[in-house]
Amino acid sequence: MTDRKDELARNLAQVEERIAAACAAAGRRREEVTLIVVTKTYPAADVRILSELGVRHVAENRDQDAAPKATECSDLPLTWHFVGQLQTNKVRSVVGYADVVQSVDRSRLVTALSKEAVRAGREVGCLIQVALDAGESARGERGGVSPSGIGELADLVAGAPGLRLDGLMTVAPLTGEYAGRELAAFERMMDLSTDLRRTHPAATMVSAGMSADLEQAVAAGATHVRVGTAVLGVRPRLG
Ligand SMILES: *Cc1c(COP(=O)(O)O)cnc(C)c1O
Repeated sequence: MTDRKDELARNLAQVEERIAAACAAAGRRREEVTLIVVTKTYPAADVRILSELGVRHVAENRDQDAAPKATECSDLPLTWHFVGQLQTNKVRSVVGYADVVQSVDRSRLVTALSKEAVRAGREVGCLIQVALDAGESARGERGGVSPSGIGELADLVAGAPGLRLDGLMTVAPLTGEYAGRELAAFERMMDLSTDLRRTHPAATMVSAGMSADLEQAVAAGATHVRVGTAVLGVRPRLG
């Protein structure tokens, strides 16, 4: 093995151990939680190594970086998630490679995603990004819709050609009532997911938890964790 492959294998094993332990502690089966490795700022060569090591889900947050990487890695059996704030002028490009867009947070974006998905003949999975620190009716600073806006957006996605409503995504808030209370934040997400599933029973995904708080997310009931730093290392620049 190369040094990098060795390093990524070790990191992956550690993350796997953490997820397994968190599942055991929560009385959940390991298969209930899917690991998504966030490869943003890291090269396509790392994505290729991760694929060799058995990773099947990767996530990116900037189209400029993600598009060429996804093209270079199009031969790999990977599911691509887009997790960044998405401008409508990038939607056509993102729909070209993303299987799931986790950052759906406004109606204009739904319209644009639907149009491009139909145009490309693709079905794109969508998660509504929830901002637990947004004031009622407002949007979060890092994207996301306030809990009161989930229902309307979910109905819009569910009725949009080319789109599939898969569930909810959140990032633990740095401000507001949930700042520093990751478990409480993720438990709130599970309540919101329960509400959503009353009208959209197939929207079962709850994407929550990153390198620092994946245990809390698994404890609360998250179905997907998004882990970057703990697998790939500290990012060379903000991303
Ligand atoms: C970067 C990022 C992650 C991964 O964060 P780490 O702390 O590196 O694990 C997860 N989710 C989103 C939306 C991100 O932008």
